[in-house]
Order: sequence, then C-alpha cells, then structure tokens
Amino acid sequence: MDERARDQVIVAGAGPVGLVTALRLARAGIPVTLVEREAMLGHDLRASTFHPPTLEMLDELGLTAPLLAQGLEVPTWQVRKHETHEKALFDLSLIAEDTRYPFRLQCEQWKLCELALEQARGVDAIDLKFGWTVEDVEQDDAGVNVRCSAPDGGGEEVLRGRWLVAADGARSTVRTLLALPFEGLTYPETTILVTTHFPFEEHLPELSRVNYVWIKGGTFSLLRLPDLWRCSVYAAADETPEQALEPDRIQAKLRRIVPAQSDFEILEIRPYRIHQRIVDNYRIGRILLAGDAAHINSPSGGMGMNCGVHDAFNLTDKLPRVYAGESDALLDLYSRQRQPIARDEILGQAHRNRTRMLEPDEEARLRTLRDLQATVADPVRHREYLLRSSMITGLRRAAEIQ
Ligand SMILES: Cc1cc2nc3c(=O)[nH]c(=O)nc-3n(C[C@H](O)[C@H](O)[C@H](O)COP(=O)(O)OP(=O)(O)OC[C@H]3O[C@@H](n4cnc5c(N)ncnc54)[C@H](O)[C@@H]3O)c2cc1C
Repeated sequence: MDERARDQVIVAGAGPVGLVTALRLARAGIPVTLVEREAMLGHDLRASTFHPPTLEMLDELGLTAPLLAQGLEVPTWQVRKHETHEKALFDLSLIAEDTRYPFRLQCEQWKLCELALEQARGVDAIDLKFGWTVEDVEQDDAGVNVRCSAPDGGGEEVLRGRWLVAADGARSTVRTLLALPFEGLTYPETTILVTTHFPFEEHLPELSRVNYVWIKGGTFSLLRLPDLWRCSVYAAADETPEQALEPDRIQAKLRRIVPAQSDFEILEIRPYRIHQRIVDNYRIGRILLAGDAAHINSPSGGMGMNCGVHDAFNLTDKLPRVYAGESDALLDLYSRQRQPIARDEILGQAHRNRTRMLEPDEEARLRTLRDLQATVADPVRHREYLLRSSMITGLRRAAEIQ
C-alpha cells in the first residue's frame, strides 16, 4: 500500500463542510481525497447567512475577507408586524465584545464554496475528484475502503484511507449505507423561495437586511443579498402547494407585501420542504459524519450551513491530534460536543423560530412581539438572545463538554 493510501482522509462531498474540512486537514499536513458527485459546484441559492463565529473560523483560512467583499453586513435584524410596522429590532453591536464580527453577513453559500475550491486547487495535499460518486464503504481496524464510480460510466475505483468524513449532505449516501437512523420529522408546509430585484426597502419603512414578518393570515421573510431580495412565502390556507406556485398567485402574494402597480420582476421561484432530523452519533468507527449528513433543520435563523462549518472545525481540530499520536477517543468527543449542540441549540432554535412565525393567532403573535420587544429593551436579555441566535452560546457550551 502506498503512503498516501495509508495516511489520507477521504472526504465525501464538496459542499461547504467537505471543502472546509479538506482545507483544514491539508493545512495540518494530512493528505485528503475529496470526492464530489457533481462535475462542478452548483450555484443554487441555499444558505445566505454567515453568523459571527463562522466568520471568525473562516478567517483562519483567509476566506472571510473575500466573503465580506462579496456580501452585505447586517448589523440589525427584526421580527415585525406588516400592517403596523411594529417590530423587535435585534442589534448585534451589543455583542461587540464577544466577537470580532458583530454582524450577520448576507452572502450566498456558493461564494464560500467557490473561494474554498479555488484555494483547494492550489494545495498539493488535496486530490480533487469531481464527477466521482461514493457507492460503497467498508472499514477495518486500520482504515476505510471507499468504492467510487467514475464520471460518465467510466468504471470504478476503490480508495483506501485512514478515515472517511461523510460530508455528503442531507441525503448522505454514507449515512444510508451505514443504515443510521435519521430521526425527526418533515414539516407539513412548503416554503416558496422567490427572488426579485424589487426595492422593498423603498416601500416598507425601517426594514433591516434580515426581516421575519407576520402578515394577516400568514407570514413571509425578506432577506437581502447584494443584488436582490430573497423572499420566502407560503401557500394560503385555501391553496394547494401547486396552486400557490402559479405565477399569478406569486404576484398576488408579493402584491400583499407591496401593492405595486405592475408585475414584480421575478428571477426565480423555488419550492422546498423543510425537515428536522439528526443522527445520534457522529462517529461510527473510522467514519465521521459532519454537516447536513448528520443534521438538518429549518432555515429559519440561518443556522444549518454554519453548524456544519462548526462541525468541520471541531473535527479538524481533533483529527490532526489523533495523527500526532493522541487517542482516537478524541473523535468520540467530537460527537459528544457537536451532536447535543446541534440537537438543542440549532434544531431547537430553528424549530422555535419557524413555529413563532407560523403562529396564526393574532393575539398570540402580539404577545410574542411584546415579549421580544421586552427582551431587546433589556440589555442583559438582549445580549443573551443575540449570543444564542448568533450561535456563540452553543459553541461555548460545546467547549465545556469533556
Ligand atoms: C433553501 C435553503 C436555504 C438555506 N438557508 C440557510 C441559511 O441561511 N443559513 C444556513 O446556515 N443554512 C441554510 N441552509 C442549509 C445549508 O444550505 C446546508 O446546511 C449546507 O449546504 C450543508 O452543507 P454540507 O456541505 O453539509 O452539504 P451540501 O452543501 O448538501 O453538500 C453535500 C455535497 O455532497 C455531494 N454528494 C452527495 N452524495 C454524494 C456521493 N454519494 N458521492 C460524492 N458526493 C456526494 C453533493 O453533490 C454535494 O455537493 C439552507 C438550505 C436550503 C435548501
């Protein structure tokens, strides 16, 4: 067996989690083969929020400065009532002593992936296999065998490595091959993502760049990206999900937000379902799960990708120490530190955010709004809320777990 096959880590999936994992391992001197099913990176609009600790982590890889240059800083975000414009305004300057980046960054996830891939292309220790698919996995005491199919029906190859990181996303092949239960639920509603250049900020007073809004009988969110607004809307009670997607009905939904005279120029309409699921253990022998392969949650609060990047950093802090001779029990610690935080802090918060905005009862909404306003009026509670929603509390809790 050659030296690389004996030593390397195989990473399945070149999403944000797989790419960051590969870069960090290579920096620690560990050879990596990164296997990605697609021939090239996709540019779908998925995550668009980077939280402060993620920006701190990515800074170590030199990725934060170019992301800041391509994104929009969001110093405040809000929960508001559409009809009255009443709001609770969360102000991240209150956590300026807790982070170098006291803001959310609105920037497309694919920009992170492009920047990370560009860096990975220049690193000898990383072997990139785009267009290759992980088909099967076996492990023994010394390592893993990962059977991959080549692009365009071009045969198969079995890769040998010391460890496998499964960063192959929500439908993870590796998790499926291991028959790991992915416990949780699928929410009943379909979220409809609509993107438009329409200048909502010129029509709705005092918008932030991230807004979660109650509108009579429904809810929507407005998230700003450098070139467009990303608006999430839902089917009305008397519409099927299919009807809700009809172009005229989408126009009507946007017209409820701003009664514009002419049609909105719409760039994209994309429906998606939301799931909340998690595996119990992120380590199965020599196989380590990270990112969406291990946990998925409602995008409300913008935490899924961030949580996966945090997994990647925790894991790549520990794997080099195992290479340097420390016990591989460190990798159990990876699971012990990350799984409960994802379960309680990330899935839990995302679920509460979603439930809060989907609450149909006007009085219950008002009570929640008053409660949030009381929170932001109290500097101690406001800061605590921001530390949690910015994912700092979860990381601090994880660091305490031994
Ligand atoms: C509409 C939407 C909005 C979202 N908004 C946010 C947000 O604002 N903030 C946030 O933090 N998160 C958000 N998320 C979640 C975020 O997109 C994911 O958490 C993130 O992409 C997870 O990264 P990952 O690297 O774990 O998985 P992925 O990005 O899914 O990457 C997995 C990769 O593995 C590859 N792969 C799969 N199977 C195989 C195989 N067998 N062999 C080889 N390669 C394989 C795939 O092609 C893919 O490239 C959103 C998601 C959606 C859908």
